[in-house]
Amino acid sequence: MSVESYGNVVNGTEDHEGSEYVLKSPATGDTIATVVDGGVKKIREAIDAAQDAFYGIWSKTSLHDRKILLQKLSDRIQERSNEYAMLESLSTGKTLRQSTLMDIPLGIEHISYFANETEFSLERKIEHPEFPDTHGIIQNVPMGVVGAITPWNVPFLMAVWKAAPALLAGNTLVIKPSSSTPITTIEMAKDALSVGFPPGVLNVVCGKGETAGEELAKSEKIRMLSFTGSTETGRHISSVAGVKKLTLELGGKSPNIVFEDADLERASMGVIFGIYLNSGQLCESGSRLLVQSSIKEKFLVTLRKKLDEMKAGNPMEMETDVSAITTRSQKLKIEKLVTEGLQEGSNLYYSKNIDGLVPSLGFYYPPTILDNVNMDMKIGNEEIFGPVLSAIEFKNENEAVEIANRSSYGLAAGVWTKDRNKAMRVASSIESGTVWINEYHLLSAAAPRGGFKNSGVGRELGLEGILEYTQTRHIFVGSESGEQDQVAYGLVLAKQS
Ligand code: NAD
Repeated sequence: MSVESYGNVVNGTEDHEGSEYVLKSPATGDTIATVVDGGVKKIREAIDAAQDAFYGIWSKTSLHDRKILLQKLSDRIQERSNEYAMLESLSTGKTLRQSTLMDIPLGIEHISYFANETEFSLERKIEHPEFPDTHGIIQNVPMGVVGAITPWNVPFLMAVWKAAPALLAGNTLVIKPSSSTPITTIEMAKDALSVGFPPGVLNVVCGKGETAGEELAKSEKIRMLSFTGSTETGRHISSVAGVKKLTLELGGKSPNIVFEDADLERASMGVIFGIYLNSGQLCESGSRLLVQSSIKEKFLVTLRKKLDEMKAGNPMEMETDVSAITTRSQKLKIEKLVTEGLQEGSNLYYSKNIDGLVPSLGFYYPPTILDNVNMDMKIGNEEIFGPVLSAIEFKNENEAVEIANRSSYGLAAGVWTKDRNKAMRVASSIESGTVWINEYHLLSAAAPRGGFKNSGVGRELGLEGILEYTQTRHIFVGSESGEQDQVAYGLVLAKQS
């Protein structure tokens, strides 16, 4: 069977210059494509192309026209959505059902959201209270060339979340996707060209983090870098990026807090969805279950029964529930952290038997629950990025909030209770960028998302997310009469006052 060969999309053409590598599916072990690592050379070419496109055409294109192109892109990907879903699942190992029903349709919807967004405006007028006869114009000006670096867990959505608001705001882009999962990002760039985005506006270059990624992070021609990935890489990028705007969407160890007065059936589904969607490889996965002592045993039994019903199999079959682990190194990391967690004194409460049910050449880790975890353990603190739920019990509301916040991360949290006042009280006390009340993982393109503490800096999505891709220019419009000038100018020429 011949496999597709993917190049880099630079200045309007797909270019195969560089070293080719083979991409295998983590779900099945099958070869799915070859990809060209463009390395530092292609990154530099892409940055130059993006700069030319920014000054040559894109910064002169109207907001209205940019919106029209974004909607065309959304429509084009919609026409090919099944193909995108297949490619996304093959390269990440996530279930085809999830790509078909969530990752791809959500990405399409989010491009369309930015195409039709009405809150963002290019400028607004202000008064200057000190100088009543003058006024100011505040402009939201694009940054210029934006670099975007994305991870492997939800590659299409991550590329959309960066490209759509950045393009809307008038920037040109160079995206470096994770070398394990670049295909749908390349497809998006090709589709952007096919619907009329000018060459050089959206470039995609594949390559390793320490070469291609680092070049993008360091480049002085890049005015802003939008990074999503691990906290460790984010920290490194901050140290090499120099003077440029940075947004960092990093890791998490999110608490899902279940009170005794919750609808336990609904909460159990929310907790399972919170940690086992995408086999726990989501930055905001609810990897810490904070459960009130009085209901802990009963609640864990409910979770166990539901996990028994999850279907393990080939993720490329629509009825399979369990996703693969996207990289071998991530699987080893999960195994290591669980082993250490057990050595620290936690209990293996549940491990689903998936042996013989999943493709033998893929990477898998069984849905797991560890009980008796506490916040002095590494397993209670470190991001696991896998299908492992750590159960921690609490006695009362204060203790729940205290445990939830005793983390260096602050990305997301869930609160499960029928008491709306308590829910709001707890949600407002949690140090994280998103808190769900009686829900988990639900995403709206209208709502900004991002991290407190080590989970990141800046926001993605929503109006706040668009504004991240802009810088502010203040134009001070002087008075017609010039009367006020005397007050200021008199400071250096006394005769004036
Ligand atoms: P990673 O940090 O290893 O890699 C992310 C990206 O950075 C990749 O494209 C990689 O090639 C690149 N990179 C690596 N080293 C680099 C360097 N020195 N310079 C420039 N670029 C470099 O992360 P990952 O393993 O791909 O993804 C998983 C991590 O991403 C998890 O920690 C997860 O929590 C986080 N994540 C966060 C969010 C969020 O919105 N907060 C969303 C998804 C994933």
